[in-house]
Amino acid sequence: MIAPVAQVAAVPETTPFVAPEELARRVRGAPLLRLGANESAFGPSPRAIAKMAAELPHLAWYGDPESYELREALAARHHCAVENLSVGAGIDDLLGLAVRAYVGPSGVAVTTRGSYATFDYQVRAHGAGLETVPYSDDCRPDLNALAAAARRLRPALVYLANPDNPSGYFHERDAIDTFRRALPAGTVFLLDEAYADFVARDRLLPDEIDPNMLRMRTFSKAYGLAGARVAYVIATPAAVATFQKIRVHFAVNRNAQIGALEALRDESHITAVVRDTMTGRRDYEHLASSYHLATLPSDTNFVCFDLGSRTRAERFLTAMLELGVFIRKPGVAPLDRYVRVTVGNAADRARFASCFPLALERCADVPA
Ligand SMILES: *Cc1c(COP(=O)(O)O)cnc(C)c1O
Repeated sequence: MIAPVAQVAAVPETTPFVAPEELARRVRGAPLLRLGANESAFGPSPRAIAKMAAELPHLAWYGDPESYELREALAARHHCAVENLSVGAGIDDLLGLAVRAYVGPSGVAVTTRGSYATFDYQVRAHGAGLETVPYSDDCRPDLNALAAAARRLRPALVYLANPDNPSGYFHERDAIDTFRRALPAGTVFLLDEAYADFVARDRLLPDEIDPNMLRMRTFSKAYGLAGARVAYVIATPAAVATFQKIRVHFAVNRNAQIGALEALRDESHITAVVRDTMTGRRDYEHLASSYHLATLPSDTNFVCFDLGSRTRAERFLTAMLELGVFIRKPGVAPLDRYVRVTVGNAADRARFASCFPLALERCADVPA
């Protein structure tokens, strides 16, 4: 009998998400309309696809383990040095490295209860302690509560997604600036900016390196490259050297680097995606209000619809699944009465809108 080390044996058998492929295997066997994982309905830059396709014959080669060209382009974009950037196989990968490097089995991390689940997953996977504070009653990450918990617990690390997932809420630059100053010395501030590309640059923190911060960005959302797995962390050269030391050097595959680099160059594609996403959010808000449902404000590529109660939201989600539409819902109050729906393209939104009254009908016997 082989057995894992005690620390790993103690890790709970959770997965952060059930994938749409697995849901399709369980309920239908047919592919689902994917509006549940905040993938881009507008796809990657056609230029990036063409570049990646042209490079496919070179898949026999390892990629550049330094991702150097990509980091050079990112350094120009963020007005920093190549030494301020480490590239990983998605933010999910970088979150694990951050926990391993800065929290460790004896450390504690603080987050918002019910916010991005893969962070919690990584903390548990590394045997670290997790402390949480609730969302505010109006479904926002509560910066005052997070800062108070940080001052009380003096954790190794505080996690905040801004814009947040699953609420969609965005805290403006000044609020984030006040928050980071309220954290105790010695606490790492991990700012997950997976959806920052949907926000105007002057609403984000400026491009300066804060020695206590790890800022993470990804090509998975606005850039539409979730399946390629490529993201990066912006930090001090010392922090970047730490990431570079412990990462798996070929985790970011060659084609992902090539695609991400070309996607960065195709600025008009991103501009169009951000504009179309905003149109899609307005569409969803109108759809909700035409059925007298509220939505949460969002600066992302998804919108939360208020179904009135947890059981109703669960029933709505199941009904949508039966209708062939994959969406997700937050599991923790006060967000648990919402369903979270990714902004689809015009055709996706039309199909979602046509399923909407049918799914609502199937909730009719559940009290709001
Ligand atoms: C989607 C998402 C991620 C995952 O990003 P990858 O780069 O695909 O791993 C990370 N953080 C948040 C808040 C997300 O919503």
